[in-house]
Formats: sequence, structure tokens, C-alpha cells
Amino acid sequence: MYNFNKQYQAAQPLQGKNKLLWRSLQHVFFAIGLGLFLLLVLLPEVGVVAFWNILIPVAPLLFLLSTGFWRNVCPLASVALIPHHWKFSKKRRIPLVWHGRLALASVVLLFLIVPARHLVLNNDGLATAITLAVLGTMAFVGGLFFDVKSAWCSSLCHVHPVEKLYGQKVGFTPQNAHCGTCHNCVLPCPDSMPSIAEQKPKERNTQAIATTLLTGGLPGFIWGWFHVPDCRSTGAEMSECLVAFGLPWATMAVTLAVYFLLRKFLPKNKETLLTSVFAAASISCYYWYRIPSLVGYGLFPQDGLLVDLTQTLPLWSIMAAQVAAVAFFGWWLVLRNPEPTVWAIRPPFEVRRK
Ligand code: SF4
Repeated sequence: MYNFNKQYQAAQPLQGKNKLLWRSLQHVFFAIGLGLFLLLVLLPEVGVVAFWNILIPVAPLLFLLSTGFWRNVCPLASVALIPHHWKFSKKRRIPLVWHGRLALASVVLLFLIVPARHLVLNNDGLATAITLAVLGTMAFVGGLFFDVKSAWCSSLCHVHPVEKLYGQKVGFTPQNAHCGTCHNCVLPCPDSMPSIAEQKPKERNTQAIATTLLTGGLPGFIWGWFHVPDCRSTGAEMSECLVAFGLPWATMAVTLAVYFLLRKFLPKNKETLLTSVFAAASISCYYWYRIPSLVGYGLFPQDGLLVDLTQTLPLWSIMAAQVAAVAFFGWWLVLRNPEPTVWAIRPPFEVRRK
């Protein structure tokens, strides 16, 4: 069982050189985010490659290794926390029931935005920039009215469910660089809890549904998503929309059904292992298809292409990289059994609620 007291004792306010380092990193990543946004608007063809084919492929690996690092420097988090840092947030508290609803909404948002990439976002810099601007506005408004990370980073952000799934056995736990002192803005705090399995408060069925939907459905969703080609014509046909959304959702339903069955028949004490296996299956499936597509060996060679290396790299080397990635994720998430750890060390409490 996770020793929370150990974490509380370890908590120190961020200060001195450590604080300077994290603030600098936050500014650097914010500048990168802003630069990407401007690229998407001004040089959309470069922007979509930089955003979808460099930043996004790195993100799952980063969540796996150190979710806390990403949550400390994520540019959208910085936008959401401007009102907190500049002290004009109204600091309202989200009722528990609404926190659960927002968690479910974040999963739904994820399963809506990702298929839309095939229809428009993957090849349209302006549409991607508009989507980011809408998400940034939602993040900012959330931070304006609600305390610290409660509205966006730990609730409605559509990336947060993926962080929860992949960040179960992180390798590096930094100090929480955004919170300063802990306001207990959300219960339980995902930054300060050791695993997704312990983030399912019984009183919030919506949150339990969100966790189940994501854990069971994500492997199939990812598999289906990679089997849909990008739509390059202006204005997607109805049939293309049906395929773009329908295939990932259908394959998501298949793995979700498998997950339900396994959860029903396996002993209760195997639930954490089951979650790890499905998390490993999701991230393995992602890189199984993403690695080849980056270098031109994808199912649809022009989709998700970063640089065409088909004349330089032999096919066997790509297959070796795929197998190595699957072996690594299986080892990291399933076979390894590290001490339970948190994403980020919780700062001292300013307000502590039950
Ligand atoms: S550490 Fe405290 S203030 Fe920060 S997100 Fe967690 S509960 Fe909220």
C-alpha cells in the first residue's frame, strides 16, 4: 500500500534554484507551444508536421517515463494556471459529482478529437490552431473560475486520461512545480496518487465509467484509428466521416468487451495487472504503427510522415524497432514491479480537506 505520510513528509515548497529551474522550463515550453501555434497559422504545412509528427509522437513516451515532468511544463497547463499564478482566480471548488462528470467528458472529448485528425486536423494547420485556441480558452476559463488544476489539468483536459493510463509506473518524480502549496483542489489529486486503480472514488460512477472506457477501449481505438487514411480533399464526404469515427469506435467496443469479460472472470486482486496489460497494449499498438509511419513505412505512406527513409532504412530495421518498443512497454508496464510512486511530490498543504 502506498505510504502517503512518506510523501507528505517529503513535501517541501518549491524554492531557490529548483524554483528558478522549473519556472525557466515552464517558460521555455510555453514559448515552444506558442511557436508551434504561430507555425500552424503562418506556415501551416510546417506546423502540422512539427505538431502532429514530432510533438504528439513523443508525448505518450513522456507520459510513461515522467508524467509529472510533462504536467509541470505542459503549455496548456501553463495557460490554465495563469489565473492561479497571477492570483486572479476565483478559486471555486468543483463539487465531487461534477468532477466525475468532467472526467467522463474528457474521455469523450479524446474519442471525438482524435478521429477528427483524419478528416481535417492532420493536414490543416489553421484548423489545428483553432482547435488549440478553443482548448486553450477552455483551460484558461477553467482556471479563472476554479481552484488550481481542478477544472482543466485534473478534469476536462482530454490528454489527462491518457496520462493516467500510461503514467502508472513513472521512472522520474519531480516536485509539483505548479501548485506552490496544496489547496486540495481536487480529491483525489491525480498528481499525488500512485496509480489509476486508486483513482476511482466509489461515489463517482461517472469517473469509474471514464476509467473503464479508457482502459478497455483505448487499445482497440488506437488499432482502428491507424487503419483509417487521412482525408486530403477539401470537405470530407459523409462516408469518410463514418469510417473516420466508426472504425476506431467499433474496434474500441471489441477491446472494451474483452476487458469487461476479463475483469469479470479474473480475481479482484488481478485488476491492477489487467489495467497494466491494457495500458501496455495501448501504447505498444500506438508505437507499432507510429514508428513506421514516421519514416514512410506506414499503412498509408503519406499519412503521419516525418521524413521518408524508405530508400535508406531496410524494412527489417523498422520491424526490429517495433518489436523492441513492444518489449520495452511490456517490461515497463507489466513485468516491472517498482515501488508505487506518484507523478509529482505534493507541496505542503495550505488547505486540507477530507
Ligand atoms: S497538489 Fe494540491 S493544489 Fe496541486 S493539483 Fe493536487 S490537490 Fe490541487
